[in-house]
Amino acid sequence: MHICPDDNIFIKLSEIITAENIKAWVIGGYVRDYILKRDNPDKDIDIVVLGNGIDIARKAASRLAPGTNVSVFRNFGTAMFRYKDYDIEFVGARKESYDRNSRKPVVENGTLEDDQKRRDFTINALAISLNKETYGELTDPFNGLDDLRKKIIRTPLDPDTTFSDDPLRMMRAIRFAVQLDFRIDDETLASISSNAERINILSRERIIAELNKIIMCRKPSRGFILLEETGLLKMVFPELESLKGVETIEGKAHKDNFLHSLKVLDNISRKTDNIWLRWAALLHDIAKPATRKYDQETGWSFHGHEFLGGKMIPEIFRRLKLPMNDRMKYVRKMVELHLRPIVLSQEIVTDSAVRRLLFDAGDDIDDLMLLCEADITSKNEATKKRHLEKLQLVRHKLKEIEEKDAVRNFKPPVDGTEIIRTFGIKPGKEVGIIKNAIRDAILDGIIPNEYEAARQLMLEKGKELGLVPGDPNAVQDQEAQADDR
Ligand code: ATP
Repeated sequence: MHICPDDNIFIKLSEIITAENIKAWVIGGYVRDYILKRDNPDKDIDIVVLGNGIDIARKAASRLAPGTNVSVFRNFGTAMFRYKDYDIEFVGARKESYDRNSRKPVVENGTLEDDQKRRDFTINALAISLNKETYGELTDPFNGLDDLRKKIIRTPLDPDTTFSDDPLRMMRAIRFAVQLDFRIDDETLASISSNAERINILSRERIIAELNKIIMCRKPSRGFILLEETGLLKMVFPELESLKGVETIEGKAHKDNFLHSLKVLDNISRKTDNIWLRWAALLHDIAKPATRKYDQETGWSFHGHEFLGGKMIPEIFRRLKLPMNDRMKYVRKMVELHLRPIVLSQEIVTDSAVRRLLFDAGDDIDDLMLLCEADITSKNEATKKRHLEKLQLVRHKLKEIEEKDAVRNFKPPVDGTEIIRTFGIKPGKEVGIIKNAIRDAILDGIIPNEYEAARQLMLEKGKELGLVPGDPNAVQDQEAQADDR
């Protein structure tokens, strides 16, 4: 079979390697996606050469894009540069052999076939020649083309060897199956199950990169089901595994929270590419096992699972090596607030309750509403419709109050610094009490959102606490003295 990607970048590359008298092939993901006609946003072109990948990368860069920066990864014997929309990476063909106790292979120079054997899947081992005499010819020693047509993920060598050598390949098998909508070959799948424990030798960073890719798929639930079935989930994400299962007492069963969370994740994935909102969907019920109770009268309950769930987020993020910054705080907030719009939709909604939700959610209110809508997973279409309509009413109410009161990113007109200065006190409990009283009074509509009213309330609350307005410069003076010392 001949394949000639029409982009003349390959013709140019072919001229360069011919001039250098070097043999080279395009290999891996680019070839796979080209044959599948898949539009992969990661426009990487991997080129394997017989010889030194770093030298030829430098030569190719100076011919294609003079002055461009070439990044060299000496440890891997690779070098890459950017040309047009592409990241072009060169690697010398190599032969790898692994020691069972180490993840670092012994690497030697090899042939094209040696290099293809060390690839993870048959569909990722396809190579297109860039050599003048054979330009465009496909080298496919493991029937990768057939697997592409049959939509099968299969390892080129014995799967136990492939997975034991680099256990990340087990996560990659699942990720590709979900991303491409392929099936994992039976022997390959069985081997993932029997090698699942090997995943523990990997760094969390490599694992999370694959998990994130699974989460960003069109239907991520399939990936998590495969992770669970193969035994990988309990190794990499035990909290999620514990959501699994249904218990029945006196004929009353609760839903399977693992399957429910996956349904919510799929639902939200149809609405957004925001990976953090997808994480929030996956984690929104994470504390259900820890809060689960059965009562003879009322049945199953999961009281406070949203707050406990919120508390669990930093630890989960830390362990999985997800970012510990605003993204984590956002997910935590979504988990903590995920029941609020539903509660609002069930009660007679007061303006004050709506204001409070707007205040707590801030700019993330629209994301929160998407999460709540995704959380409605009832199989009964009429029930589902009823809940969605109620949430729609909450949306209207939110819009109305936001237009009227603008509390979404509201900051009380009197802040902590002013309280400290007015009463000449140090930061402490009283400041918090007064601040909360002002915020609550404004959110409850007791005082208007204006400076004079807020200041008046501050003075009243201060008086109740036994504070007397003092010299506004007193604290500053004390601080200045402390600095001088
Ligand atoms: P995508 O861009 O969607 O991640 P890709 O196949 O290009 O897909 P990369 O991670 O960029 O994925 O890897 C490029 C190629 O390198 C793969 O197609 C495969 O041939 C090889 N490869 C990558 N990781 C491994 C691995 N862990 N074991 C064996 N081969 C691998």
